[in-house]
Amino acid sequence: NHLKKYFPINSGLLNRTVGHVKAVDDISFSIQPGETFGLVGESGSGKSTVGRTILRLHDKTAGEVKFKGIDVHELSGKELRQIRPQMQLIFQDPYSSLNPRVRVGDAIGEALLDHGMLQKGEIRDRVEEVLASCGLSSYHYDRFPHEFSGGQRQRIGIARALVLNPDLIIADEPVSALDVSIQAQIINLFRHQQETRGLTYLFISHDLSVVEHLCSRIGVMYLGSMMETASRDELFRNPLHPYTKALLSAVPIPIPKLKRDRIVLKGDIPSPANPPTGCKFHTRCPFATAMCKEQVPEFRHVGHEHYVACHLV
Ligand code: SF4
Ligand code: MG
Repeated sequence: NHLKKYFPINSGLLNRTVGHVKAVDDISFSIQPGETFGLVGESGSGKSTVGRTILRLHDKTAGEVKFKGIDVHELSGKELRQIRPQMQLIFQDPYSSLNPRVRVGDAIGEALLDHGMLQKGEIRDRVEEVLASCGLSSYHYDRFPHEFSGGQRQRIGIARALVLNPDLIIADEPVSALDVSIQAQIINLFRHQQETRGLTYLFISHDLSVVEHLCSRIGVMYLGSMMETASRDELFRNPLHPYTKALLSAVPIPIPKLKRDRIVLKGDIPSPANPPTGCKFHTRCPFATAMCKEQVPEFRHVGHEHYVACHLV
């Protein structure tokens, strides 16, 4: 609810704060148990910061994050440790977070020991069971990270998150570094795990064609603000925000008769340290008017589960 995360910019010489990067600038959304909420936007839109602030890997600047009714940012260190296993993060590149000298089975089991969830003698069985559910086997338990392909490494990343039996998984660009053929396999694995374990996902991606296959609802972020949220079908059939339309223009349409405005984005995303006034998208929006430069559009309810921040809508 109204989540903000600002990072201070320090001037090197005086070590004084000279401004802020408004990575997440007052956004609100909810994720229902068992659903997959897709968060999309170009790199630099603040998606990863949202994920990390939900998990309290960053302290918030303002607003609140509620998990099962509990305000995550109000918990003591001890309370946070207790609920941590229930909320897990999967990264784009799990390899960078794996110790090259630790066998992957042991790396996956470590978290179980850390959280005191199982005794040492019980860990191997539990890890092998999770590896098997991720399409790996006991053979892989004793191998080292460098012996795995990119797709297999992401299976390890998923297994490591699942071993703690979480309820919520935040997956940050989990297939972006993979070949397209492997992407499909990993997306299928995400879906399979959700069906068998009743998981809830926040799935972060810059690619709408990736979230299309997995998400029930989608939020579109731009420069730290939420521009539009809607159900997947509504967003693809009836996108209302010009930025969403621009992102969709880059996705191939399977139904040729489906009419869609094509908007080609010009230029790069502006710096979140110095975002445009009014509607943050106005510097790249083909429909921008004088009002757009001055007034911040309200994030308004425009239809069933459909919210948009645009003066035109
Ligand atoms: Fe474009 Fe104005 Fe809508 Fe922003 S508010 S998306 S600038 S039309
Ligand atoms: Mg990111």
